[in-house]
Amino acid sequence: MSTLNGSCLCGNVQYSTLAAPLMTAVCHCSDCQKQSGSAFSVNVLVPTEGFEVEGRSLSSYASNGGSGLPVRRFFCSTCGSALYSAITTMPGLFAVKAGTLSDASALTPALHMFCASAQPWVAIDRTLTCYEQAVTE
Ligand SMILES: [Zn+2]
Ligand SMILES: [Zn+2]
Repeated sequence: MSTLNGSCLCGNVQYSTLAAPLMTAVCHCSDCQKQSGSAFSVNVLVPTEGFEVEGRSLSSYASNGGSGLPVRRFFCSTCGSALYSAITTMPGLFAVKAGTLSDASALTPALHMFCASAQPWVAIDRTLTCYEQAVTE
């Protein structure tokens, strides 16, 4: 029984982990906007240890994130779904894209980051912690 599992749109890539997620963070950085084709990404932080991926079409692309250090974004090369990222500044964790989870309804976002580049028509819950750039501590 896995705590968390999901897949891409076409189902060629599936992932699961027994580890409990650490946190859910909403990212408004311009790279997440590009990759998701949307206004932000919702990232569920999970330990890399025990994170299992099965897939015939897993690809990745690395670019420098807001910190200037590489972010490697894993996606399905068949259907293009963004699945998870490995972030240099967060070793030992993957940022799983919440939209690919089989059930994301129980998630509770804890914070917003890169609010400086958020679209003005996106309503951000300002009762949560909002970082203008990356999470700094
Ligand atoms: Zn796919
Ligand atoms: Zn981002």
